[in-house]
Amino acid sequence: MVMMHCWLHPDRPSQPDSSVFYTEERDTMDQELMFTNEPVKARFIAPDGNVEEKIIEIRTNPVTLRSSRVTLSRVGEKEKGTENLPNPPPDAEKKAACPFCRPQVMTRTPRCLGKLSPSGRLVRGSSLLFPNLFPYGRYSAISLFDDNHFVEIGKASVETYHDSLLNSADYLGRIVQSDPKSVYMAITQNHLPSAGGSLLHPHLQVHAERIPSNHHRTLLQRASQYRSTTGSRILTDYLRHEQQDGRRYIGKTGHWQWMAAFAPEGFYEIWGILPGCTSFCDLNEEDWLHLAQGMIRTQKFYRSLCRNGYNFGLLLIEDGNDCLELRAVMLVRSNFTPWVRNDYTGYELMLGDMATFVQPEQTASLAREFWQ
Ligand SMILES: [Zn+2]
Repeated sequence: MVMMHCWLHPDRPSQPDSSVFYTEERDTMDQELMFTNEPVKARFIAPDGNVEEKIIEIRTNPVTLRSSRVTLSRVGEKEKGTENLPNPPPDAEKKAACPFCRPQVMTRTPRCLGKLSPSGRLVRGSSLLFPNLFPYGRYSAISLFDDNHFVEIGKASVETYHDSLLNSADYLGRIVQSDPKSVYMAITQNHLPSAGGSLLHPHLQVHAERIPSNHHRTLLQRASQYRSTTGSRILTDYLRHEQQDGRRYIGKTGHWQWMAAFAPEGFYEIWGILPGCTSFCDLNEEDWLHLAQGMIRTQKFYRSLCRNGYNFGLLLIEDGNDCLELRAVMLVRSNFTPWVRNDYTGYELMLGDMATFVQPEQTASLAREFWQ
């Protein structure tokens, strides 16, 4: 059902003549889960003397209610530095200087306290996990995939990601047991320095903290409110809407369902939702394998766009809530190659709205072949 109604400004006249203005609403959701896309027009006199109109889509994330923008005038723009996949970075061969490479990883990285791991490090297949020497919170660990010092985007094996995710889950499970108040958890990845990675050697960051991050706080608040108002889980309803709509839906790996984010807060942002699952403790080994598969497929898609940097995030709230289902997020970052512009400008940092140049419907249509 398409409603010509502006949820953000109910008193504003609707624009039924606009082909791009829409707010989608599922019948049973009423005011609760709105897919709002409000195009605005910028007018100016172009250098040739003609008055031009450029459309900017202002979309609202139905889950977080944060807005973001798609600058349609830049759709199709080839960003500088993405003509080809950039060459490997200069440190790609410098294994001897890397604290995450063997054998020095065993002497140059810290060990967990005995209550978390008597041996100080966790091992799962090819993955080694140890505390972050530069922690970001109470519990802050590094989970390596394997001993490969540099792995190009999309070239890692699913097995190494599976091992590293299982190792991360093992670590978080130990925290649940030893410090049940540290319920705000996350598994993240910064691939290459342009995505914030300080060491080239591929790894996941594993976090747990008693104090919520901004995103933990917003997600929990919104998911709880939605559950109490509607009796439904917000991400299940989001997923159902996206499956029915189809334009942003990409495919599945096991029970994980993948789609382009409706209101992207990063370039080519893709979500993987695991419906019905609100705790990482409910995942079996296969679920982690299927998450790893989705992560690698997303990387292969990004590689096809000649992009080499990305971020991954899986946020967890292990307080026994039955509202917030698991959602993995991946998005592209500016390429790591000289003189490429950063994707976070004054607009993103100072106004708080991400501006991307690609409509999510286009992202999904490009990504689908990697799920076949
Ligand atoms: Zn290394």
